[in-house]
Amino acid sequence: MTLNRYEGLRNTYYLLKPAIPWPVRMALRRFLARGLRRRFRASWPINEASGRAPEGWPGWPDGKEFAFVLTHDIEGKRGLERCRGLAEMEMGLEFRSSFNFVPEGEYATPEPLRAFLREHGFEVGVHDLHHDGKLYRSRQTFQSAAPKINQYLTSWGAVGFRSGFMLHDLRWLQDLNIRYDASTFDTDPFEPQPDGVNTIFPFWVPGDDGAGYVELPCTLPQDFTLFILLQETAIDVWKSKLEWVAAHGGLALVNAHPDYMSFDRRRSASEYGADLYQGFLEYVAQRYRKTGWFALPRDVANYVCQHRSAFPASSLRV
Ligand SMILES: [Zn+2]
Repeated sequence: MTLNRYEGLRNTYYLLKPAIPWPVRMALRRFLARGLRRRFRASWPINEASGRAPEGWPGWPDGKEFAFVLTHDIEGKRGLERCRGLAEMEMGLEFRSSFNFVPEGEYATPEPLRAFLREHGFEVGVHDLHHDGKLYRSRQTFQSAAPKINQYLTSWGAVGFRSGFMLHDLRWLQDLNIRYDASTFDTDPFEPQPDGVNTIFPFWVPGDDGAGYVELPCTLPQDFTLFILLQETAIDVWKSKLEWVAAHGGLALVNAHPDYMSFDRRRSASEYGADLYQGFLEYVAQRYRKTGWFALPRDVANYVCQHRSAFPASSLRV
């Protein structure tokens, strides 16, 4: 892909990021994001080319028309404190989701919180290792982090992984003992590594000797992108993208961060009202409860694993 002005600026931005104060950083990111939105309006939030089901696609269980999956990445202490409230809100609406925790970041996840989530039907996953943007700096960096990540996967009883900042290398991810990874997206020009997998369907990533894992692309725009960067004040983009994914029979996968979700009226510039997220869930429940498969990411991964022989062997896309 050739770099245009906005992409060049974005790369410079990530290089200088640590030295720039937050308000300046955010003003710059918002300016860049508005430019990217204009430039990529033909492929974001909907990239028509992503809607075609892969060869051999078996359809969803029980004749459901599409799958709907909720995930949360817990970035810092602010997010950690809100996990329980968020889980309770979702339970009240009969949703379940996965919570991805950073093993060695700025907080330690209390075991009682993970136990609470598991006991109430939620899933716990691993989010990066340190969440400092350095996991993919070199092959060696990734290889030395992998055994630690695998330890956390085992001790947390987790089968799913998502990298910090949605960085991804599907070949390197074979080092992890995962059933699925969810660090890619169908289309998202706002990410630091903006290459999309161009599909709204999960796919099998084959490794050596029959090993491998399922890739679950995020297919609805992230909350941070919509409400903080692009300063949307309503959920229209989520609704229209979901309608399109549902019509194409794909996987609607949401990544929403409690760190950015404010549950009271006082709100900083890096937060949006949790009522937007709640309103979206209410809308989804009311409109799609009968037609959608509301599943945990591990359920979708298990389903794809069971049917992987139906997929072409060359399904590795990135
Ligand atoms: Zn993160």
